[in-house]
Order: sequence, then structure tokens, then C-alpha cells
Amino acid sequence: MTKVYHSTELNHLFLSKLKTEIQDIFNGCKIIAIKIHFGEPGNNTAFKPEQIKPITDLLKSLNINYFFYDSSVDYESPRNNPETHKKIAIEKGWGKLGEIRTDDNFISVKGKNMTYQVCKSLADADGVLVISHFKGHYCSGFGGAIKNLGMGAVSKKTKNDIHSGGRPKIIGNCIQCKKCEKACPIGGITVTDKPEISKCYGCSNCIYVCPQKVFEPKLNFFDILLAEGASIAQSKFKKKYFISFLTNITKECDCESDPKEIICEGCGFLFSYDAVAIDRAAYDLVAKKIGENPFLKYNFKDGIEQINAAEEFGMGGQYYESIEFS
Ligand code: SF4
Ligand code: SF4
Repeated sequence: MTKVYHSTELNHLFLSKLKTEIQDIFNGCKIIAIKIHFGEPGNNTAFKPEQIKPITDLLKSLNINYFFYDSSVDYESPRNNPETHKKIAIEKGWGKLGEIRTDDNFISVKGKNMTYQVCKSLADADGVLVISHFKGHYCSGFGGAIKNLGMGAVSKKTKNDIHSGGRPKIIGNCIQCKKCEKACPIGGITVTDKPEISKCYGCSNCIYVCPQKVFEPKLNFFDILLAEGASIAQSKFKKKYFISFLTNITKECDCESDPKEIICEGCGFLFSYDAVAIDRAAYDLVAKKIGENPFLKYNFKDGIEQINAAEEFGMGGQYYESIEFS
């Protein structure tokens, strides 16, 4: 069973344990990548450099060199190309903490469902420290470590392929129950005598909820493709470790300039060797705080699907031992 370390604050004892873990894992590394989300302009709940400084101070104290990395997004945003993405990160103050890389170089890796383009900067680094902000997401229920890699450690093309692959195609007869209409997070489906899809981000929710199996995914369920992408990206890392912040947990994600309301606060911080265990532990802490199926009521999807899929792809295990430092 994987150990997941938890504390409600980044106190001395917790950071000392993290230092020991990082020292063990990244021993001998010349330079590691910190995989992080710099945050969409206007988003005030995404990471701020001062939140991450205790961790970069810790790396410096161990003489571990690092750079920050994130990949370009595939929607309209200054973060959708390396140049303006880097500019935004600098404007947000990340350059004061260390070098920023946002390049678009990839290696192609064939998976069971499709070929994924993994960020070369992460694969080439001596190790990857994945720092994730755990929060809601309208396509995956929540976004944590798995999503930080499945969507964040791959190319724009792969991001697009994951969303496209999760879109529904109609294969059966509709009974007009309208469950799909209610489950679509963007109001993209209207049912009259049959479902009409006007816009679609490929979350696969309508496919999950339809009692008649009217739909099937174009390639596979969004969560399965996301988890496969994460698993494949991780498989290319020489070493890896995960830290998650369970602070300012918003309904929607850091990709939005307006991530909507904060749905949970005060669940603290986690670190672990295992991406699946850390996401499961984060989910459990939020569920304990705000009730069962915490993301279902906000995003029409709980997010457990990505955890189960990541485990099946061999990315890690969801059974964990929680070590408390609070
Ligand atoms: S959920 Fe399925 S059966 Fe119900 S309205 Fe939508 S497509 Fe039709
Ligand atoms: S996959 Fe279905 S539920 Fe999701 S955005 Fe597209 S139409 Fe809406």
C-alpha cells in the first residue's frame, strides 16, 4: 500500500519529511522538471509563485537544479503558444523562482487507444516533480495529478485527440428521457425526438448516463483517454514524485479565467510517490469535508472514472496509507 503524506499546513515537520522523500527520489539528478500549471490570466485561485516557494527553497537546499514546465493549451488563450505562455508565466512572477520552459517539442508514444505526444522537456529531464492544484473540472469531475499529466504533459494535438475521442456518436434509439441533456456540463444537447448536439467538449457524460445506450464514444471515454495519456507520459519520466495542494478548490479549473465558486477549502497538502494514490487521497479528503460524490453535484461527474482507469493502465494504485502530519 502506498504512503500518502498529509498535513493541513506546510509546517516544518511536514516539509522535513518531504525533503527526505525528495532527496531519496531525485538523488543524483542534475536537473529536474517541475510540472506545474501557471494559471490562466484573470484566474485568482490558481497557483501563485509564493505558494510554491517553500518547495523550491527545499530543492535549492538539496542542490537540486530545476525548471518549471507547462505545455501549450488547445483553446483561445495566451497560453496556447510557447512565446505568450512564457510571457504570461513571467508576468505572474514565476521567473523569480526559476527558469520557465514552455516549448512545444514532443515524442510520440503508441497507446492502446491512440498515439500520445508526450512533452520532451519532461521526458528528457532527470526527473519530474509534479505539483498539482486539486480542483474541479467540467470534463473530468476534478483535476489533480492524473489530469496534470494526462492533459498537461502532452501536446495540443493529443489534448484535442482526447477531447475528440470522448465525443458521442449516435448508435441507438432515444426514449426522450433527457438524462443526457441534464448531464451535459455545457448545455450542448437538446432532445426533441432525438438528441441534437450543438456543441461538445467530449467529456463523455451523456454516454455514461444514457439508459438506452444511444451513444458510444468516438474512440473511448474521455476519462480513459485522459488516464492513458497520463500513464504514458509518466512511463517516459526517469523519476517522479507528486505534491498536491488542496487549497482554493474551485468548481472549475485553472484553465478558466473564472473558475467559479470555491467548493471546498482547508483540506491541506499531500505528497506521494504515486499519482493514483495521491488523487484518491485528495478525493477522499474532499468527500469527507463536503460529502459523498463531491464533484458529481458540481460537474455532473465524480472523477473516480479517471482514478480507476489510471490504475488499470498501471500508473499506480488507489489503496493508500495516510500518514498524518497535522
Ligand atoms: S439519455 Fe439517451 S434515451 Fe435519454 S434522452 Fe438522452 S439519448 Fe435519449
Ligand atoms: S460529451 Fe456529451 S455531455 Fe459531454 S460536452 Fe459533449 S455532448 Fe455534452
